[in-house]
Amino acid sequence: MQYSKRLRVSLILLAFFLILTGAKNNKSKKNKGPSLFEKIKAEYLVYKNSKDELKDTILKGYILKFDKFSREGKEAEVIASKYFKADINEKLFEITGDRAYLNEAIKLYEEVSKSRNSNLYLAAQKKLDLLSPNKGKDDFMSLGSFERHKNESSINTDFVRLINIRHWSDSNYTRVVIELEKAVTFEHRTLKEDLENKKPPRLIVDLKNSVVNKELINNPIEINNNLLQQIRVGQFKEDQARVVLDLRSLGAYNVFTLTNPYRVVIDIFASDKSGSAKTAPTDTRKIQEKKIETKQFFSNIRSIVIDTGHGDHDPGAIGVDGLKEKDVVLDIGLRLGRMLKEFHPDIEIHYTRESDIFLPLEERTAFANSKKADLFISIHANASKNKSASGIETYFLNFAKEKRAMEVVARENATTLEGVDEVQTILKDLLLSSKYNESSMFASVIQKNLVSRLSQEYSDIVDLGVKQGPFFVLLGSAMPSILVEVSFITHPIEGKRLATEAYREKIAEGIFNGIREYIERTALVKN
Ligand SMILES: [Zn+2]
Repeated sequence: MQYSKRLRVSLILLAFFLILTGAKNNKSKKNKGPSLFEKIKAEYLVYKNSKDELKDTILKGYILKFDKFSREGKEAEVIASKYFKADINEKLFEITGDRAYLNEAIKLYEEVSKSRNSNLYLAAQKKLDLLSPNKGKDDFMSLGSFERHKNESSINTDFVRLINIRHWSDSNYTRVVIELEKAVTFEHRTLKEDLENKKPPRLIVDLKNSVVNKELINNPIEINNNLLQQIRVGQFKEDQARVVLDLRSLGAYNVFTLTNPYRVVIDIFASDKSGSAKTAPTDTRKIQEKKIETKQFFSNIRSIVIDTGHGDHDPGAIGVDGLKEKDVVLDIGLRLGRMLKEFHPDIEIHYTRESDIFLPLEERTAFANSKKADLFISIHANASKNKSASGIETYFLNFAKEKRAMEVVARENATTLEGVDEVQTILKDLLLSSKYNESSMFASVIQKNLVSRLSQEYSDIVDLGVKQGPFFVLLGSAMPSILVEVSFITHPIEGKRLATEAYREKIAEGIFNGIREYIERTALVKN
């Protein structure tokens, strides 16, 4: 753009001029300057704040007008005119997207911020905080300078690559997953809305010692739901990647990590969680009353997500005669869903998978959150090197209290015991927002009913009880959530039983009974 070249030249000249005049600025004080500067300033401010769309031609006109004062004005006017030229360049950047304007603006603000004789230096510093790639709060290095830096530092292979950004959204929930090559230290914080610079409230995640894959830069990911406008990814500093979530408003959010591969997960919820309307529509109530005839209940449970572990290339545990956990649990989950649909047609049933497909663990929880599910149940089959291990156990999210629980977590998270230890360190924050008491109660009723249903048919059912562990698939879920290990696929007898339809049906019935009990216990009794 020819103009911006000219602008740059004139700004360089201006800079020289300012350096030259800096020493003899007292001279101009004799010029009892006409209020022309004030007039133009006022005119510009009115124009800038008018409702009309700003036009680049008019803005450029103002630059020329202020230019005059940079040359002829008093010191205060010189500084003020620089400040306003910076402001106009900022606006031009917003209109045209041409980063040359942004760079000019930053350069000018830097100059103003150094002139302590004007009270504009504070304003300029504030602007720099918002704009400057090194001091700023948000903007990234340009792709060009990023490439340069990358080439310069290509010897340094220690940087961790930010590989991908994934997200799941519905209108009131978004989960963003930042995938990295390996673990990095990171910080996150929110920034309030910046009206002056037309920037929305933002959630910023800074990843140390990281570089962003080139394809992700300059490609904002549009979300546009009630919580989030878009996700931007960029290189904030040579050795620091930054992910910016442009929010609609600042509300509740969680940030935590998962390992293998290393992921930073950000959950954003509508700040008013009760906004997801818990008052049952009348027709639902009628069905509910009909179905549970002896007592009159209003159920709070409208939607249940059934998650069946593993899938596709991840078979889960392999049991007796090569039986695969992924197949057994899918069948049990589908049976459970059919029972629930039949007896509670008012409750929506969602499956994370209905066939032999693979889903990352974090996607399963995200799915449940996005469906605004009221209950989340993840169905698994247990395994142990000790072939005589047998029984049923149900987990909810908490620190693992015993070694065996940690082993189960490690297996289901597809991580090591160290990995489990790692996730325990971030668990504290997440437990605060988890449905801890409800999940604990949900786990108890499922465990009790499942053991009791199977014990009606088999005399050797072992009740391993309710346990706790930091399962990835339960992290960040917004509803009571549990993981049930229905039996040991590696046990010679249980493993054989798991291969039969009859046993799977009874397991489904046991879980179904548990869900019904939970519904009854949490329902509001009429009268
Ligand atoms: Zn499993």
